[in-house]
Amino acid sequence: MRLHIGASTHVGRVRKGNEDSYMADEPLFAVADGMGGHQGGEVASKLALDTLRKATDGVALAQAVQDANKAVFERAGRDPGLAGMGTTLTAFLVEGDTLRLAHVGDSRAYLMRDGELQRITTDHTVVEGLVEKGELTPQEASIHPQRSILTRAIGVDGEVQVDQGSIQPHPGDRLLLCSDGLTGMIEEADIQRILEEHEDPQAAADALVDAANEAGGQDNITAVIIDVTEAGPDPHAQVAPTETVAAPGPRRTERFAMGERGRRRWPWKALAWILAALVLLVGGLFAAKRLFVDRQWFVGTEGGYVALFQGIPAEPIGFDLATLVEETTIPADQATQLAEYQDLEDGITAESEEEARSIIAQIQADVDAQQPPPGAP
Ligand code: MN
Repeated sequence: MRLHIGASTHVGRVRKGNEDSYMADEPLFAVADGMGGHQGGEVASKLALDTLRKATDGVALAQAVQDANKAVFERAGRDPGLAGMGTTLTAFLVEGDTLRLAHVGDSRAYLMRDGELQRITTDHTVVEGLVEKGELTPQEASIHPQRSILTRAIGVDGEVQVDQGSIQPHPGDRLLLCSDGLTGMIEEADIQRILEEHEDPQAAADALVDAANEAGGQDNITAVIIDVTEAGPDPHAQVAPTETVAAPGPRRTERFAMGERGRRRWPWKALAWILAALVLLVGGLFAAKRLFVDRQWFVGTEGGYVALFQGIPAEPIGFDLATLVEETTIPADQATQLAEYQDLEDGITAESEEEARSIIAQIQADVDAQQPPPGAP
């Protein structure tokens, strides 16, 4: 089997970053469409493909996809900035004369054979489920506002259900892997026409991306084209239908469907920005506190006793800027009877811990001098 490859990805005309990733590196071909706030989407799709590349070495493709899932899931768990990230993953792996297919999410694989374009993956979306139940027509689904809500994705749970299939390629077959930024913007009839118009796979991939951008480019767009020019020994074999191989463990697609609700809707994005701004603000306050406030020391009172504090003796913005470091056994009222320490309640500031401790030692000495020690005549 001899393959000719074309691949193209584009941020589109609306999004600020490209969260799609692809791999077109024989024997592995894959498209991943990442999602998640901050840099999550980009990290998820890249990490999934990097892990897949390493894991496919001598391992079944479905297992490699599980490894990719685990890598994204664990990274999302470790890094609070990446929590909730995930990605689609649709991949072909060449195994001898067979192309193995693994698929999770709403990126797609198509086969163009004998002038006919057939889709060989099922979208793991809420609306596709409704189409299968007959509650929506494919036409209604294609324009449904929630058509991007996924029911499965890589990195959302410890295990993932992976659809698997295989193809015995024929000479002349053209395979397409693409993200929903292509299929959400142009009709399958347009995809077929463009694939027929461009013999060169790179020209075809570029033309598909251009067409999606001309149609609005509302999402990141990725297309990977694999042309088969020499086939293996069995040119008349049919495409095996994809089958779902359930991963062990409970299905938790509902939770994800909820979490995915806002993937392309602005209110969620606005909320994410507000949260990010708050995190920065609070982070800034803590940083400022560490830089300026935690270098300050003062002697004050705590629970009726003289105490050592780090910080500044004020609460200017309702934000506690002092930390109790050490309590003493010196009664505060005995200290404040002495003229030098009458402002003790407001705090006596010091340049260093050493200085603050010497103030406390002085208070102790002055109080001792004032008050005869217990048991003394
Ligand atoms: Mn997308």
